[in-house]
Amino acid sequence: MLKTINPATGTEMKEIEEVSLSSTARIYQQAEQAQKDWQGKSVSERLAYFQSLRLLMASKLDQLSTIIHADTGKPKAEALATDIMPVIDYIQHIEKTAEASLNRQSQSTPVLFWGKKSYIEYMARGTVLIISPWNYPLQLSLIPVLSALAGGNAVVLKPSEVTPLTGRLIELLFKESRFPDQIVQVAQGGKELGEALIKEKPDYIFFTGSVKTGKIIQEQAARDLIPTTLELGGKDPMIVFEDANLERAAKAAVWGAFTNSGQVCMSTERVYVQRSVYQTFVRKVQELTMNLKQGTSIHDDLGSMTFPKQIQIVKEQVEDALNKGAVLAAGDAPENWDNDSMFIKPMVLLNVNQEMDIMKEETFGPVMPIMPFDREEEAIELANGTSYGLNASVWSGDMEKAERVVASLVTGNAAINDVMLTVMNPNLPFGGAKNSGIGRYHGEQGLRIFCHEKSVMTDSGKRNTEIQWFPYKGKYKPFKTLFQTMFGRNKNWKAAGQAYREIMKASK
Ligand code: NAD
Repeated sequence: MLKTINPATGTEMKEIEEVSLSSTARIYQQAEQAQKDWQGKSVSERLAYFQSLRLLMASKLDQLSTIIHADTGKPKAEALATDIMPVIDYIQHIEKTAEASLNRQSQSTPVLFWGKKSYIEYMARGTVLIISPWNYPLQLSLIPVLSALAGGNAVVLKPSEVTPLTGRLIELLFKESRFPDQIVQVAQGGKELGEALIKEKPDYIFFTGSVKTGKIIQEQAARDLIPTTLELGGKDPMIVFEDANLERAAKAAVWGAFTNSGQVCMSTERVYVQRSVYQTFVRKVQELTMNLKQGTSIHDDLGSMTFPKQIQIVKEQVEDALNKGAVLAAGDAPENWDNDSMFIKPMVLLNVNQEMDIMKEETFGPVMPIMPFDREEEAIELANGTSYGLNASVWSGDMEKAERVVASLVTGNAAINDVMLTVMNPNLPFGGAKNSGIGRYHGEQGLRIFCHEKSVMTDSGKRNTEIQWFPYKGKYKPFKTLFQTMFGRNKNWKAAGQAYREIMKASK
């Protein structure tokens, strides 16, 4: 049984039954069975189910936000705006775009293959295993689940054991919107269950979680050549130039660093500010941070931390920074934290440097370290100076400069004069560079990754042979003349025509 406790209030909720490790083979058999029918449906037939789910979710917003709040401790407004809304929006996006993305795509055919036709078609992979984390338990489960379903796959979802109420909610949503039985199976359990589900060799693994687990999963998947997408952690930089709108930048930094108590893969984890405006920016951020309201009401800005172990990681990183000379400009030092509470006050750290863990490792907590810089090149070097590359933001009134800086950042996503934006646009592919992950989802490719991309060329079959087929006798020289004319500088089309006739003759 998975115990569920509302981290913000300490209230014990109902227990959720775990799937036994011995039932994984049966889960896949059921998935395989269900997938046969589902694959046989056209994309538009599948989309009718999506519409039911969207309408159902839109009619249950209070219930959904209450469950997510109870599971994670995040404020209900945040659950609504950043976990539930993106899913509903994404369903609508799939309803509008899936047919165009997944139906057969005609392609042009090179002139050398005159008379033939080419197309790409998308075929379901089979059963997709989706393993998700606890920080946005609804969207980080449902967006990949729905993308896989649109392509005709069955799905086994293993939600995080830290947020099983949301896992249960997902199960009920599919049932209530009358998706076919077993087309989505929610397997509740911990990492041992995740490992056991991978051992059953799913046709694809979509993983969202830590770099550490991502590497373990990639190793396990490699043994059976199972394709994967890995959506991993981040240490996202924000670069603020002196010509930026500082009012807006400070507000964005505070939201970017502290929304969901900083437990966001693409939260603002490092802020670099041009020295001439550093003091002004810090003052604004300090004031805004101190005005944030923490609690459990719908008017509060910050909820609690979700996972007790995460508090320990945040604590160690802050202690390391303070021991190395960092200064707290807002929030409490770890020795003053209430050990019985899951709430941590948001912290602003100054006098930090790139050698501190707080500037190198993912913190996943409400901490904003701020550091001054002088030159554009220096800011780029600092921003690129970690092993992560998920998201970044650049702040300037000079668009040309901002775009130039973005072009130099090694990152999967970036925003100019905004934070965390790209993930909210379902048309844009999302994913990381370096240790932040492998592959992309969202957008057209977010649907296509769950399919075998099959390239097909057709011929009417009326001609008896092809010029590149046997025999080769008498073809080498005319081939050379033909290719030199087609691809080289010397365009002797008369000679090429003669060469082509010779090849045709030799082919008979
Ligand atoms: P985690 O890696 O501990 O766990 C994620 C999931 O993997 C859970 O469901 C867990 O049960 C499962 N798991 C753990 N070990 C496993 C194993 N050996 N085999 C199979 N499954 C296993 O991560 P978490 O603490 O739940 O989530 C936080 C992390 O997720 C952070 O690093 C965060 O940056 C990252 N994240 C990334 C994105 C993204 O889109 N890039 C989004 C959100 C969170």
